[in-house]
Amino acid sequence: MGSIVLVGAQWGDEGKGKIIDLLSERADFVVRSQGGANAGHTVVVGNEEFVLHLVPSGVLHPGTTCIVGNGVVVDPKVLLDEIDALRGKGVHIDGNLFVSETAHIVMPYHKLLDGLREKLKGKSAVGTTLRGISPAYMDKVGYTGIRAMDLIDEAVFREKLEANLVEKNLILTKAYDHAPLDADEIVREYGAYAERIAPHVANTEIMLNRAIAEGKEVLFEGAQGTLLDVDHGTYPFVTASSTTAGGACTGSGVGPTSIGMVMGVAKAYTTRVGSGPFPTEFTPEEDFVDRKHDREFGATTGRTRRCGWFDALIVNHSVRVNGLDAIALTKLDVMDNCKRVKICVAYDIDGKRVTDFPHDSALLRRAKPIYEQMDGWGEPTKDVRAYDNLPANARAYIERLQELIDTPIEIVSVGEQRDHTIFVRGPLDE
Ligand code: GDP
Repeated sequence: MGSIVLVGAQWGDEGKGKIIDLLSERADFVVRSQGGANAGHTVVVGNEEFVLHLVPSGVLHPGTTCIVGNGVVVDPKVLLDEIDALRGKGVHIDGNLFVSETAHIVMPYHKLLDGLREKLKGKSAVGTTLRGISPAYMDKVGYTGIRAMDLIDEAVFREKLEANLVEKNLILTKAYDHAPLDADEIVREYGAYAERIAPHVANTEIMLNRAIAEGKEVLFEGAQGTLLDVDHGTYPFVTASSTTAGGACTGSGVGPTSIGMVMGVAKAYTTRVGSGPFPTEFTPEEDFVDRKHDREFGATTGRTRRCGWFDALIVNHSVRVNGLDAIALTKLDVMDNCKRVKICVAYDIDGKRVTDFPHDSALLRRAKPIYEQMDGWGEPTKDVRAYDNLPANARAYIERLQELIDTPIEIVSVGEQRDHTIFVRGPLDE
């Protein structure tokens, strides 16, 4: 299969975890290249459920090496808790999980400032996950970040921390009327993490490039989704990293010429968490999604998701900015009971028909969706394993989506288990 970059094609939560889990069965390396513990993939294996925030989903497959790349911001406590939880469920983690030595570390002041800034913004808060992600990336581009290699060297860590605390404590005390942070306390807490993380810290870009040169298969698992990309998303309602395909390269130290294929994961409908415009959001009468049963609440935050119809403008934008070769369409089964299904094919913005996704969120807020309607299929799809056995109306829906986004839908997911999957064009290696 060569190297595959897998990205979310909408606003995140597309069900990437399941598709990554499917593809990583064949991968020698699975790599996270952006984001932090604000991501949450849910993978269901038999009766066991795994929610992964930082550890790549490939960890569930013995023989796969997992890499947390340089583009990720690592909260060491979350990482260690996750390692412990996985071990508790019998997952082997020893010599198969590496953290890039140049990955930046999420510090206590990042988490604190995340919450304080959101509170200060009041009504205009972005709705961050309060995991300190954006403040950690701000320090990265502000040249004051602390990297994994600094964390595991106590003298360097203390020096950088003390230098940073001068400014952070000024901000905390003067801008937010908050108590200052104590360097000794942080050194004690992070020193304990450092000891446990040190065996995992490595030059992962060398590992990955060597592996690719040897013909090993590498899967880059995206977190969040294209519309949350700091450049290509619905700014400012985005996340602080490059969630699009290019981020896989910059966030891992692998060049674009080493990437064989880019696959986007899109839900058969659309969801969005947090604030911001969402043109195809369901009216209360249209809403067919049972948030609890259909798992439309955040794996990281527990927040329920806003739901709406499939928006072809959004996915077309994703096809463009990621250079998608193929799509995995997930959660088709959630639409099984819909009598009529709608697809957004254009927006009406101030009386004009618009078919390209606009960057301006003020325009997006005024966008009225123009829909095509089709009959639903009204029968369960969960047990279908071959594309031709899907109900005719479900096939018509998928084929219309495919036409509108001009990209092959190669995988259709009809349930959360590994085997609830239809390979439309045969398994990927064919
Ligand atoms: P991710 O962050 O993109 O991995 O998405 P999440 O893990 O937040 O959300 C996806 C949820 O949907 C998880 O609970 C999955 O187990 C579940 N899921 C994935 N694919 C399907 C599917 O085809 N059908 C159904 N019913 N659930 C699915």
